[in-house]
Amino acid sequence: MAKNEVKNDIMDKIVSLSKRRGFVFQSSEIYGGLNGCWDYGPLGVELLNNIKLAWWKTMTYRDDIEGLDASILMHPKVWEASGHIANFTDPMIDCKECKARFRADQIEDCECGSRAYKGRKAIKCFEEGKFTEARQFNLMFKTFIGAIESEDAVVYLRPETAQGIYVNFLNVKDSTRQKLPFGIAQIGKAFRNEINTRNFLFRTREFEQMEMQYFIRPEDDEKWYEYWKEQRINWYFEHGMKKEKLNFVPHPADKLAHYAKAAIDIEYQFPFGWGELEGIHNRGNYDLTQHTQFSGKKMEYFDDQTKERFIPNVIETSAGASRSFMAFLTDAYEEDEAPTADGKVEKRTVLRLHPKLAPLKCAIFPLVNKDGLQEVSKNIVSDLQKSFKVFYDESGAVGRRYRRQDECGTPFCVTIDYDTIKDNTVTIRDRDSMKQERIGIDRIKEYVMLKVL
Ligand code: ATP
Repeated sequence: MAKNEVKNDIMDKIVSLSKRRGFVFQSSEIYGGLNGCWDYGPLGVELLNNIKLAWWKTMTYRDDIEGLDASILMHPKVWEASGHIANFTDPMIDCKECKARFRADQIEDCECGSRAYKGRKAIKCFEEGKFTEARQFNLMFKTFIGAIESEDAVVYLRPETAQGIYVNFLNVKDSTRQKLPFGIAQIGKAFRNEINTRNFLFRTREFEQMEMQYFIRPEDDEKWYEYWKEQRINWYFEHGMKKEKLNFVPHPADKLAHYAKAAIDIEYQFPFGWGELEGIHNRGNYDLTQHTQFSGKKMEYFDDQTKERFIPNVIETSAGASRSFMAFLTDAYEEDEAPTADGKVEKRTVLRLHPKLAPLKCAIFPLVNKDGLQEVSKNIVSDLQKSFKVFYDESGAVGRRYRRQDECGTPFCVTIDYDTIKDNTVTIRDRDSMKQERIGIDRIKEYVMLKVL
């Protein structure tokens, strides 16, 4: 099998596991789906929430960063000031033969066989005459506010969460009395009418971002840029991502926005290739300056020590929650072997998700469905689920129940047997090592909580 086929095979397996186990479904599937939109199922919403919570805790459970949840619809002037109305565009070309549409700055082959372009110098080398000229396409979704669909009622679904932070800079600073350096963090939905959606959750039209703007004195920008680069890549490592799968990729100087001093992406090696998970940007004071000009409000900071008044610079960390979800899922996916009850080995699929991110923290199995074992098991479930997400399963052989939980990434399985009735102990089994241990019922909660919270 060719290398590419192996990689696509892994991707196909992840997509199919996502559906089978209830991580991700196609949006509006019964109507044939809606391109670029996905629904998170019962396990998916837990995993996504756990990723967002892990980010939120790391980024805001500290003295110098405040949280925010701004609205998705904002005053249209925001997008004029930020430059999105004029510049948030991608170049679009169409194949004249089969009408397929492409982003002209991405490497593609047209399905009808026309060579779209080779390498990143795409536009220059696509086959003469087979494609339309590139034209700019604005990625913002437009809608109308109020009952009348007129030009002056146009509003946009936000294409990034960051502008909600900038426009609230003064509100947050004044209400919290934070001093520089300080940050504002936000998690929320963003919408981009992408020309081409592809690779499962990688590029979608509706997605979630986890962004933080760190406001600093201009002369400190390099120090904080380096600091946030380090912090952010470590966050992925601390949550279990394999070191060799993550990389920094700096933006070349000629690709930087005119106001930016430096920018770097954290990329993950997906089965289909390297792709951006998060951008870290040294943005100067462009956004606050623009909002000062367009709103007439001075987006300034007064330093009461030096008596200076100035517009702060910003270091931005901008991560995709949905892309991180896909990266964590891909990174956790493994196929290995597990012993069976009769001493043989069988193949198993396991999601080695970090226990903090795992959708279900613990599964509870009565060994048999009689002699009071179900009642004891259900009592344990109702006690544990006050603290974390637990799954109760009484169907099939215990080995099969283990396999199901391995596929869901559940770090611990607890079996209740006849000895439990006698001495109040249970068997707890670890997903990764598959080792089993006997512990008292009263220790289960602490045992699991230590690892998963
Ligand atoms: P790309 O080059 O992949 O289009 P970008 O550089 O435009 O991404 P940013 O505007 O920096 O992305 O957005 C920050 C983060 O938001 C990205 O690193 C990514 O994780 C996420 N993101 C951006 N666009 C999408 C999308 N269409 N679908 C899913 N996540 C996205």
